Amino acid sequence: MTPLVLLVEDETALVDVLRYNLERGGFDVVATESGERALEIVDERAIDIVLLDWMLPHMSGIEVCRQLRRRTTTRDLPIIMLTARSDRTDRVRGLDTGADDYISKPVAPDELLARMRAVLRRARPALAEEKLIYADIEMSLSEYKVRRGGELIALGPTEFRLLRHFMERPGRVFSRNQLIDAVWGHDFYIDSRTVDVHIRRLRKALNAGKKKDLIRTVRSAGYALDAG
Ligand code: CA
Repeated sequence: MTPLVLLVEDETALVDVLRYNLERGGFDVVATESGERALEIVDERAIDIVLLDWMLPHMSGIEVCRQLRRRTTTRDLPIIMLTARSDRTDRVRGLDTGADDYISKPVAPDELLARMRAVLRRARPALAEEKLIYADIEMSLSEYKVRRGGELIALGPTEFRLLRHFMERPGRVFSRNQLIDAVWGHDFYIDSRTVDVHIRRLRKALNAGKKKDLIRTVRSAGYALDAG
C-alpha cells in the first residue's frame, strides 16, 4: 500500500516541489499550510508520516508536534521536521518535542526521501514484508490467507484489509475515521458504526475457539491490535 504523507508547510512553492518529488518517490500526499488543520487531518486520514515545517503562521510546527505526541492515536506517528534554522540548539529542541528526525532547508529531495524511508522502516518494519506475523496470527499477503495458531481463518475482504492495516502497525491505536480512510478510502461515505460492525466480524473470526482477543478497544479513541 502506498504510504500517505501529511505535508504541513506554508511556502506554496516548496509545497509544489515537495509534492512532485514525494509522489515520484512513491508517496501519496495531503498538504496543508495550517498547523490547526493538520491536527484535524490526522483524525480524518490514515497518515503514515508527517513532514512538519518548523515555522508556521499561527500554531508553530513545534506545538503541532507536541500535540501529536500527546494524543493516543498519533503518539507513535513518524514526524520529520523541516527547519530553515541550522542552529544546533533548535535542532535539539526539535528532537525534544518528539520529532523522529529533522531536515534543514533548502530540502534536497533525494535526502528527504531517504530519511523518510529510514524513519518509516524503523516505525513500521512490517511494511515491506510478504508475510506479516503478530502473536499467533500469520498473514500471507501473496496467498491472501490468514492463519491463527496454524489454523486457516476465513475473512471477508474488508476484514482482511482491516487486519492487514493493524498488522502492519501493531500496537498503534486507530480512530474509526483513520480506519475508514485506510480501509475504504476517504472518497466514500462510511458510517463509523460500519467500522464497529467489521471489527466485530474480524474479532469473531480471529477468536473462534475461545482464543484470546487481540483487538483492543480504546475508549473514546478507537481500536488497536495489541497482545497486551
Ligand atoms: Ca514556514
